[in-house]
Amino acid sequence: MNLPRPLSHSSISMYGECPLKYKLKYVDGIPEKPKHFFAFGQSVHKALEFFYKVEALPAPSLEELLKNYRENWVTLGYRDQAQEAEYFQQGKDILAGYHRRHAAALRIPYSVEYDFRFTVDGVPVTGKVDRIDRQEDGRFCVVDYKTGKALTAGRVAQDAQLTMYQLACESLLGAEVARLIFYHLPTHHEHSVGRRSQEQLGELRARIKRTAEAIIAERFEAKPSENSCRWCDFKAHCPVFSSASAVVPAADELAALIDRFGELTARRAELDGEAAGVKAALLDILRRKGYVRAFGARFEVQRCGAGKIEFSEANKKKVIHLIKAAGLYESVLAPSAPLIQKLLADAGADAELRAALRALGAPVEASDLKVTPL
Ligand code: SF4
Repeated sequence: MNLPRPLSHSSISMYGECPLKYKLKYVDGIPEKPKHFFAFGQSVHKALEFFYKVEALPAPSLEELLKNYRENWVTLGYRDQAQEAEYFQQGKDILAGYHRRHAAALRIPYSVEYDFRFTVDGVPVTGKVDRIDRQEDGRFCVVDYKTGKALTAGRVAQDAQLTMYQLACESLLGAEVARLIFYHLPTHHEHSVGRRSQEQLGELRARIKRTAEAIIAERFEAKPSENSCRWCDFKAHCPVFSSASAVVPAADELAALIDRFGELTARRAELDGEAAGVKAALLDILRRKGYVRAFGARFEVQRCGAGKIEFSEANKKKVIHLIKAAGLYESVLAPSAPLIQKLLADAGADAELRAALRALGAPVEASDLKVTPL
């Protein structure tokens, strides 16, 4: 067979992780489920593309940047509205921090979202570089933004994606890459490393060639591992899981039940998120106004659950010491938090002991609500 499509950093990684997974995705064309973290990364990358793709300075204002972010927000893959809102806000914070740090000193890059396609020893390879800057000495500086986990300095020095970018830029743009930068957006931490050695470039070339040869020879064995299989969308098509899973025809009763259960679970998560927000707003108003109970047209709410005293780890030993000294250790055996709370609420218990215990803790407001139809 031929290569189903040019190789990229991610398809080479996927083949290395599990050749069967590569086949199911790239040869058989089975789609993976949308993932919220990809959608989030895409949204923030789009906004940074807008930030840097200016014809002339100054940089776009923060308002323009956030407007672009809002208009190009990718909604795919989020669990519910609450999760999507949380990520949307996180992206706004990242972009505001980025603008604060970089807008004033912005220099127009050599290229933004540079799409490349070239061949390595006859193997077609494709990819996209987030940003390429040109240094004063004419050499390039390649920048890759990440919205996910940070990489350690050691990983940045070995990262195959950055090596691929150097190989592509030097093959296609006719100038040397001087620096490779991994910019971690959530922390604004910039790891900068020098150019890759000839040895590292040679290793990547060999890996590209090996991967292409294996694909053309149709070597697609399953390579199960805890990490790969846990997040794999193809379990239903994988022989490793064939005895424990099944692809059920859409008309089957089981398929209908699975889908109904999935829809209900998703709706429950959405409603739980909304209810938690309404509850927090209600508790806030009730506390501020000093109400214990309030009535709507169809429901009443009542603050319930006693306020309690919380003890720091450092004070827990002192609490036990006081209880033992008062001869109450047996009745508050293995002094559990609820029993100590009971003792604190017991007006008949030793007042001095209760005062000493109170002094070791800090009061926490009651945070539950009982709701009853009228
Ligand atoms: S479930 Fe595991 S072994 Fe099967 S295709 Fe996915 S990653 Fe490979």
